[in-house]
Amino acid sequence: MVVKVTKVRCPQCGSEAPWNPGNPYRPFCSERCKLIDLGAWSSEAYRVPAQEKKTVSEDRG
Ligand SMILES: [Zn+2]
Repeated sequence: MVVKVTKVRCPQCGSEAPWNPGNPYRPFCSERCKLIDLGAWSSEAYRVPAQEKKTVSEDRG
């Protein structure tokens, strides 16, 4: 038998997250992403996404 696993896209990191009782963080993929998202909202880090320009000068090294 094939068990269908519903997957959603994690709003935070964009990776696939299982949508089932085994994932208490849905629609996020993990607790980390959930906390990041909640934190972002509470700290008003969410802003209207401006047109993203491709910048290559963001290297953290
Ligand atoms: Zn995620």
